[in-house]
Amino acid sequence: MTAPLTLASAAELDAADPLAPFREEFHIPPGPDWKPSAYFCGNSLGLLPKAVQGALEQVLADWARLGVEAHFDGSSPWMHYHETLADATARLVGAKPIEVVVMNNLTVNLHLLMVSFYRPTATRYKILMEGGAFPSDQYAMESQARLHGLAPDDAIVELVPRPGEHTLRTEDIEAKIQELGDSLATVLIGGVNYYTGQAFDMAAITKAGHAVGAYVGFDLAHAAGNLHLQLHDWDVDFACWCTYKYLNSGPGGTSGVFVHERFANRPDLVRLAGWWGHDPSVRFQMKKGFRPMPGAAGWQLSNAQIFPMAIHRASLETVDRAGGMAVLRRKSEQLTAYLESQIWALELPASQLEIITPTDPAQRGCQLSILVHQRGRELFDFLAAQGIIADWREPNVIRLAPVPLYNSFEDVARVGEALRQFFR
Ligand SMILES: *Cc1c(COP(=O)(O)O)cnc(C)c1O
Repeated sequence: MTAPLTLASAAELDAADPLAPFREEFHIPPGPDWKPSAYFCGNSLGLLPKAVQGALEQVLADWARLGVEAHFDGSSPWMHYHETLADATARLVGAKPIEVVVMNNLTVNLHLLMVSFYRPTATRYKILMEGGAFPSDQYAMESQARLHGLAPDDAIVELVPRPGEHTLRTEDIEAKIQELGDSLATVLIGGVNYYTGQAFDMAAITKAGHAVGAYVGFDLAHAAGNLHLQLHDWDVDFACWCTYKYLNSGPGGTSGVFVHERFANRPDLVRLAGWWGHDPSVRFQMKKGFRPMPGAAGWQLSNAQIFPMAIHRASLETVDRAGGMAVLRRKSEQLTAYLESQIWALELPASQLEIITPTDPAQRGCQLSILVHQRGRELFDFLAAQGIIADWREPNVIRLAPVPLYNSFEDVARVGEALRQFFR
């Protein structure tokens, strides 16, 4: 067991951190003493990048100066605005630009993708998901089953951990996929489970799903901007994610979508259509007969949401300037290991406090979920009083997500210090 690192050593780690200057680019909410809080809720709502204000003012200025003409003559013409996000989005998730598009909101996109990638037949109609998935995903899958006249309890199969364990084993996921075999239509799992913080082996799950002839998709709400994703190489069929968590793109922000290149020229795939997914060369001829654009862009419905996209573009630029996800992930692993060492150093019995997130860095992102068996809510309130903004999930889990762009090692050391005081 490692000794708790002191605040001084946290300062040393911060001094040696090449990403430390990025913290200055964010508005850090003040704590009760008006000093900057230690903000660990980037998994819920990422902080406001200072660059966003200028990005929004640019859109407002274009609108004021040009009105409708800003679609063509703006500083970044609205007509093509979504296209300006494709390269950075592709880098973010390990995709080709044709495989990604930014549009709508997450749950909406999940439905749009399921319309195409959940095509149940009389015998192949099961959806495999992780038990305890984020509620919106559960409701989305229930309603997708009903959309096809199926009973959710019959159509949806949930993966649950072994007795006495908190997270899933890859081998058990693979075994379940094999067991379902040709009854399995679609696998839809979170890239990182929001509650436990477990990151799934997306390459292995995709391979297992494809081996039985199923489509495999991931909800990357807690993975995008958190993990170093390689969606194309992992051969994932489809994915979507929100941008307001680890991607700092604001409440209700826009969402990203991935559809593998092999579906890029499949106009025959059933989908819900709208004019923004239509072949742009004839979009304004206003004619009947939907012809989808190639790639993920062919799933677009409505004209681009310029304000959320302007925020998102500023955020993606920050990720690129920091060196991309490989660089961010390296610091992220250190921050989380540091947080973990602070908790281990308390040497509390598992009957009192447990980290339910896997210890293996390959099986988690930045978040640690702490199951507090006694005085959990009291601990959460104590942390809040110290200016440590964590997240409480009923019945007794505290989630802490140190993020590499704006969290410092000193933030993490503050948690360690607060925990030592609380459990003294
Ligand atoms: C945050 C989150 C959502 C939220 O969905 P919205 O459509 O953005 O409101 C959905 N699913 C998962 C897995 C999430 O983590």
